[in-house]
Amino acid sequence: QTLDKGLEKSKTSFFSKLTKAVAGKSTVDDEVLDNLEEILVSSDVGVNTTLKIIERIEKRVSTDKYLGTDELNKILREEIAGLLSENNTDDNANFAISPSKKPYVIMVVGVNGVGKTTTIGKLANQFKKAGYKVVLGAADTFRAAAIDQLQIWADRVGVPIVRQQMGSDPASVAFDTLQSAVSQDADVVIIDTAGRLHNKVNLMNELSKVKRVMQKVVEDAPHDVMLVLDGSTGQNAFEQAKQFTAATEVTSLAVTKLDGTAKGGVVIGISDQFKIPVKYIGVGEGIDDLQVFNKVEFVDSFFK
Ligand code: GDP
Repeated sequence: QTLDKGLEKSKTSFFSKLTKAVAGKSTVDDEVLDNLEEILVSSDVGVNTTLKIIERIEKRVSTDKYLGTDELNKILREEIAGLLSENNTDDNANFAISPSKKPYVIMVVGVNGVGKTTTIGKLANQFKKAGYKVVLGAADTFRAAAIDQLQIWADRVGVPIVRQQMGSDPASVAFDTLQSAVSQDADVVIIDTAGRLHNKVNLMNELSKVKRVMQKVVEDAPHDVMLVLDGSTGQNAFEQAKQFTAATEVTSLAVTKLDGTAKGGVVIGISDQFKIPVKYIGVGEGIDDLQVFNKVEFVDSFFK
């Protein structure tokens, strides 16, 4: 239900465009396909992924030129779900229910303003509600505001936070956080990291140092490197994904602010292009407005 509400803008826009594109048409001809291509691109699905989808659809309609538009809708839905399936197995959804390691260490990366802190807070709340003991680490030491914001979320959710002064070494905060988590017998650790996209080498060095130091406490940490992207920024989100995946091994995505955009298609494009599963989507500012990404529900809510 919240998903439908959260994606309302994307859905309405996508759907009304699709309806226009096929108005008065009884078959899926080249013009319909051209229009569809334009709609997908303008929904921020991304050019490469759009072409892939169009190609798949072309293949299917070529065997039956007289497919109606209802069938087009159905095929489109199937092909997009198929594309998302390549990166999003059901394990991703299960993760939220049972983290596979203890403590399960999530390192969160992403530039400032994308909703990183909010996502960490919402995530901590979900784990806590599910009965897990959570510890937060404020390793974004570059901005005092980042530490304070995370503190506010920690208080709100009611979970401990490990922090140091602004300007301290992020790796040292991460180290302390893991030590504290281990000694408290915590289940889940979520580490916030600095979101500066300075030069690539710096970012790479910083993130790999944080990882290396964490591994002194928990050998195979982090178990997840989650990149948070603002879904309403379209091509910027693509660009950030490119830079972070070049700097470190990103293992999952959280795409935020899908409620504020008509361009929810970005989820489809980014997941396809970077071959990274989308684990969560943010559909509002509230504490409960974070959903485990479910590809079937996602596609369904677009085409309902
Ligand atoms: P950070 O700098 O990346 O840590 O970003 P914040 O977590 O501070 O979020 C920046 C702004 O985006 C805040 O006003 C949040 O309330 C808002 N925000 C975060 N996630 C969402 C979302 O899913 N939907 C909406 N509408 N707003 C969000």
